[in-house]
Amino acid sequence: MIDKKFDPASAVQDEQNFGEFGGVNPSITDSSTYTFMEAESMEGTFVGETEGCFLYSRHWNPTNKYLADALARMEGAESAQVVGSGMAAISNVTMQICESGDHIISSKTIYGGTYSLFHFYLPKFNIHTTLLDITDLAAVEAAITPETKMIFCEVMSNPLLEIANITALSELAHKNGIKLVIDNTFTPMIFTPLAFGADVVVHSLTKFINGASDTVAGAICGSEEFINSLMDLNTGSTMLLGPTMDGVRSASVMKNLRTLHIRMVQHSKNALFIAESLQADGVSVRYAGLKDHPSYELMKEQMNTEYGFGGMVLIDCKTKENAYKLMNAMQKDNVGYLAVSLGFYKTLFSAPGSSTSSEIPEEEQGDMGLSPGLIRMSVGLDMDIERTYDTIKARLKEIGLV
Ligand code: PLP
Repeated sequence: MIDKKFDPASAVQDEQNFGEFGGVNPSITDSSTYTFMEAESMEGTFVGETEGCFLYSRHWNPTNKYLADALARMEGAESAQVVGSGMAAISNVTMQICESGDHIISSKTIYGGTYSLFHFYLPKFNIHTTLLDITDLAAVEAAITPETKMIFCEVMSNPLLEIANITALSELAHKNGIKLVIDNTFTPMIFTPLAFGADVVVHSLTKFINGASDTVAGAICGSEEFINSLMDLNTGSTMLLGPTMDGVRSASVMKNLRTLHIRMVQHSKNALFIAESLQADGVSVRYAGLKDHPSYELMKEQMNTEYGFGGMVLIDCKTKENAYKLMNAMQKDNVGYLAVSLGFYKTLFSAPGSSTSSEIPEEEQGDMGLSPGLIRMSVGLDMDIERTYDTIKARLKEIGLV
């Protein structure tokens, strides 16, 4: 296990790869296939003698490898692989760990697509999931069966911003021979789940890590053994299901990764300001950096403090009508954009109950505390966040929420 004091930004910065002619960025390899000097070495590659050799880009592409290596460094992982989306990362990890008859335990407050994968899609492969409150460790323990192969959660959940106790979950998992898989999409650099005992970390690179809202991509970080197993020619899910990321895109994500640490600090600083100011005005708001957040202390125990509490803030407008009014007004005033996704330079907002979490049945949404008036904000990189706040407050006044 890696040191809990480990710094992800320095780890990424230490990963150096020069390009052809001494380029400060690694060269881009946009080839699907690779030549061999002799037939004998091609044969060797097929039986696993892959050191220094590239065969075919669904298997490995050098540009993808640069990005994967940097992400492995960031997560303190032995190895990593990049794939075509965050959902590809989650589905391929799941298909690698589980087979027909197996059981998954997952947080019920997760991204809607992941919820649907577990709840609606995987049962056709005879893989069943218990969706529960992941902060209730007794419930997690009680749900474990001899068939359980994977415990899954987002360390900061989408959309409710609950914080998972990774140490406790990993102890429960390992005592029972189960793998703990953590989605760290909301909190890159803020959390290093492998340092607290997680086995695999997945990311949607689409969000904060790329930060430019110009691509969809994902990553899987874990032990060398696990990542190699994903690419096994006969039994590897990423090899056989083919979620390959395009190498040219990898190169642009890699360049954006270089500034992730600075962006995370600014997202967190702005989000904290918005959350504290709204709370002081009596608005119902949830943010992991507010002392009344149920997992504030747990967050502090697990976080890399220099990156703050993250860029995600929830405003509860009580009704869908109020939420829609506020979002329409914020877009008109250029506070940000009415859009799903997160981690952009501009503030993005949506009402998860009728958008990113609409896959979750309404009754379930109610049970998990997802009100129809909830707005999820991914706070942007605004230089003058006080000005942004004043604009939001003026609109909140019009609606009668302050
Ligand atoms: N994980 C989380 C926490 C997400 O919010 C999302 C998408 O919103 C995903 C995974 C899926 O990522 P992608 O859209 O890149 O497939």
